[in-house]
Amino acid sequence: MSDAQLIERWQHIQEKIYQSAIRYQRDPNSIKLIAVSKLHSVEAIRALADAGQKSFGENYVQEMTEKAQKLAALDIDWHFIGPLQSNKCQWVAETASTIHSLDRLKLVAPLARYRPQTLPPLAVLLQVNIDCETSKAGTTNFESLCQLAQAVMTQERLSLQGLMAIPAISNDMATQRAAFEKVRLLRNQLAEKLNLNLPELSMGMSSDLDAAIAEGATIVRVGTDIFGQRITPGT
Ligand SMILES: *Cc1c(COP(=O)(O)O)cnc(C)c1O
Repeated sequence: MSDAQLIERWQHIQEKIYQSAIRYQRDPNSIKLIAVSKLHSVEAIRALADAGQKSFGENYVQEMTEKAQKLAALDIDWHFIGPLQSNKCQWVAETASTIHSLDRLKLVAPLARYRPQTLPPLAVLLQVNIDCETSKAGTTNFESLCQLAQAVMTQERLSLQGLMAIPAISNDMATQRAAFEKVRLLRNQLAEKLNLNLPELSMGMSSDLDAAIAEGATIVRVGTDIFGQRITPGT
């Protein structure tokens, strides 16, 4: 894909987000687009960054770290959105502004310990598995979600911001919305129980963007509709 085509697709997604926001009476500026660049080239990222896209999402620690090093001259905001092994927390803590996929207690202490003092606290979203799909990461019950949230809250180097979810794939708008509504209600329940503000809902990808925005997404993660098909089918 040429840079011009890439930028056109990216602008089209921005327009789509804007239209959805208007349709559901939301402020378009309250929805942040993360361009999910996993398995796409540093050249493609550079082209979009030059065009004005600031936030990029990556699923694999090593890939994110290498890309961040190669693109260190650009002011890119890296979001880690993939499954994380506890022995790789250091790289996420040193490279990303935000982790969307914190899903177990074991990751909390190492992420906090490795977060450099020179950076602001690492923004944390807890991944929830609302469809209880065994194939997917994420906490499935409210009690473990509360425990995880409380563990993050005790860490000064981490800043709990909200929830992330990847619902089961569906082509039906009502089904998509029902899943995202569950995430929003869970966020509300958690915020109330722990008496804190949890502003962020990271939900919505290429195929369910509109439903996610209808249900209150503040961060959408779009890969395919911007960059095209990934060479290796991604997670
Ligand atoms: C790959 C991925 C995306 C982007 O998915 P597309 O369907 O390509 O838009 C978003 N979120 C997560 C967690 C992903 O792994």
